[in-house]
Amino acid sequence: MQEMRKRKAMLDETKRKIGLASSGEHSSSWKGDEVGYFGLHARIKKILKKPLKCNFCGRIKPLDLANKSHEYKFELDDWVWLCRKCHVKYDWTLKKTKRMRAIASKNIDIIGLKKLYATGKYTQIELGKKFDIHHITVWKYLHDQ
Ligand SMILES: [Zn+2]
Repeated sequence: MQEMRKRKAMLDETKRKIGLASSGEHSSSWKGDEVGYFGLHARIKKILKKPLKCNFCGRIKPLDLANKSHEYKFELDDWVWLCRKCHVKYDWTLKKTKRMRAIASKNIDIIGLKKLYATGKYTQIELGKKFDIHHITVWKYLHDQ
């Protein structure tokens, strides 16, 4: 019984955090009850296996499964694994930072890109083709811009 109450409190807290407490079940994008969000989260988590590193900064840290659109869609493309710091940053800059969105939407492995560039085997243009991004974007990533 104690556990149930704890779980309920946790759910309320999470709902509050994700800004759904007031919209509740009337939210158009978030259909549901507790099972809705947590069921979805659990299902996505199962499919989209947790990587070792943050999809954005590449650091090995505790990772959160973050929702990109904040619409909680059952679409793998709408979710990304981020460390806490990047998750917060991402949520804050959701509408502002194009770079963050571009990376999140393509799951670009910046660390991998930097490593490849460091081998000297690839030009920035070749890397652009490899990662399906503009070579100017490659330059920006390499220079942390
Ligand atoms: Zn990170």
